[in-house]
Amino acid sequence: MRTKTSTKRSRKPAPARPAVDGLPSPAARQRFRRRLLDWYRRHGRDLPWRETRDPYRVLVSEIMLQQTQVDRVLPKYLEWLDKYPTFHALAAAPVDEVTRTWYPLGYNVRPRRLHAIAREAVERYGGELPADETTLRSFKGIGAYTAGAVLSFAFGRRAPILDTNVARVLFRVFVGRGAPKSHAMRRHLWGVSRAVLPARHVFDFNQALMDFGATVCVARKPQCLICPLARQCATYPFNPDAERA
Ligand code: SF4
Repeated sequence: MRTKTSTKRSRKPAPARPAVDGLPSPAARQRFRRRLLDWYRRHGRDLPWRETRDPYRVLVSEIMLQQTQVDRVLPKYLEWLDKYPTFHALAAAPVDEVTRTWYPLGYNVRPRRLHAIAREAVERYGGELPADETTLRSFKGIGAYTAGAVLSFAFGRRAPILDTNVARVLFRVFVGRGAPKSHAMRRHLWGVSRAVLPARHVFDFNQALMDFGATVCVARKPQCLICPLARQCATYPFNPDAERA
């Protein structure tokens, strides 16, 4: 009589999938652009900095919005532009007054940086902002994200952006596993942000990415049930425990 032997085999663990894969396929990029732009045309917020292509106004809004909620920025943005409508007006104002005007937005390094950028723009570029990334990033206070925002929103360039909201959306849709805040992932997500940019409608597309991350694909409770990207989202259905810091 043959004894029954176990049919279980010792299994090697499946190889860990790399945290960072390649870029989205052309078809996936196309679907993403179409769905996101459709959503934005129906649900995008009506905000005053979306009605301008003036590099100064774009820069003011981007610096004010760093780590600050839209509803806190709105009144200050309008007050600021009333008082300092151009780089020339801002550069001519005393820095102490500029810092007081900024109150109560906080992070007071921001008005001082904005003031220094205005002075440099006046002294070196006739009160304008240059339209190339390298020169923009030579200004203290203009990093990769702000340069991309100015290039795409003010100059209509095909320039990617990656702030916290955009990184969250791109990570969830195109990656879905791994550490979303690691340096390697950040580099990868910059590549994804560049890859998904459309040839046209760059202004709307980048605004849509930011709006979508701020209102639908939010950090804690993303609205997956009404999300137009759910069918292509690598994270759907979202599980907060699976998203590592
Ligand atoms: S399905 Fe959920 S996690 Fe994925 S993009 Fe939409 S809101 Fe974000």
